[in-house]
Amino acid sequence: MLSDSEDVSVRLRQQIEASGPISVAEYMRVANTAYYGRADPLGAEGDFITAPEISQMFGEMVGIWLSDLWLRQRPARCHYVELGPGRGTLAADALRTMRRFGWTPSVHFVENSPALRAKQLQVVPSAVFHDTLESLPTDTPLFVVANEFFDALPVRQMVSTQGGWRERVVVRNNEAGFAAMSGATATDDLIPEQFRSAAIGSIYEVCPDASSIMQQLSVRLAKQGGVMLVIDYGYTQAALGDTVQAVQSHQYADPFTHSGQVDLTAHVDFFELSNCAKKYGLLVAGPNDQGAWLSGLGIDQRAQILAASNPSRAADISAARNRLVAPDAMGALFKVLAVYAQDWPQPQGFGL
Ligand code: SAH
Repeated sequence: MLSDSEDVSVRLRQQIEASGPISVAEYMRVANTAYYGRADPLGAEGDFITAPEISQMFGEMVGIWLSDLWLRQRPARCHYVELGPGRGTLAADALRTMRRFGWTPSVHFVENSPALRAKQLQVVPSAVFHDTLESLPTDTPLFVVANEFFDALPVRQMVSTQGGWRERVVVRNNEAGFAAMSGATATDDLIPEQFRSAAIGSIYEVCPDASSIMQQLSVRLAKQGGVMLVIDYGYTQAALGDTVQAVQSHQYADPFTHSGQVDLTAHVDFFELSNCAKKYGLLVAGPNDQGAWLSGLGIDQRAQILAASNPSRAADISAARNRLVAPDAMGALFKVLAVYAQDWPQPQGFGL
């Protein structure tokens, strides 16, 4: 009996043998679906840790940010929507904070991992699950949150060769793994003008799923009203570079071995996300650094209050605050972007 991760390697190998090399995006999609579907990879004992798992303060700041908009806009009804909620920790912390402002929206999770859906249900029993965005409510404003969601979506990679830009593809390497190389398909049309003559070997990435999700949600928000908060690591201007990385047990690993056993991510193109939202009639705030955004919302005050009521945990609380805010930890690497409907209030935390 094969384990799920052996199974995904076997399946990928068979697919490549039968029909030739597959794109980096196809490889990443198959490997990550197996990876997230298999078990809960989060936390200190797992492969990686995210901001809401570091401290309850993160979800609380998201809850305060959302509540501020809700109090100023006062929609009669609305929904909380989270994309890829992991263990549900962020939602649980944000919703608890929102309740203190007198707000209890219905909760919708877009999540495709059965293992993580089970975890999320334990902490947010009222959650309604969705495989895709299409089934989200169409009637009232949406308050959408996506933390470390977009980085998990598959990217296509283009590589500059002597013969022009080509799709980067994955081939079989040896028994244990795979390797990436330039493929046969010409992709010059997908490369922005300023990068067309970049050095041989340069890599340019696009994330079609991210653009499509952003477009669909932008259309919804423009029509139904609402806001969307995106928090992730990434770049804020169009850029070249191979950002696909694999993490296992908190260590970097080779993205093309141990398929389905490592977390594959790519940096998020915030420039593209902002442009999508603007194209569909939304307003944009940020991106701002996570550290500045959390500080603006009052994370230091919250840390002081928590430490005063739990003196034995004061050092842990201060360390967690630093991890989230300090520029040499997550504070500068992670960016926060908000997009919102035209007639909605300007969101806080962006130095407006
Ligand atoms: N937001 C959480 C978890 C981040 S990990 C946190 O901050 O802790 C990425 C999450 O996105 C997981 O829940 C994973 O199962 C989910 N995910 C990845 N790709 C997805 C897709 N295409 N559709 C729905 N959920 C997806």
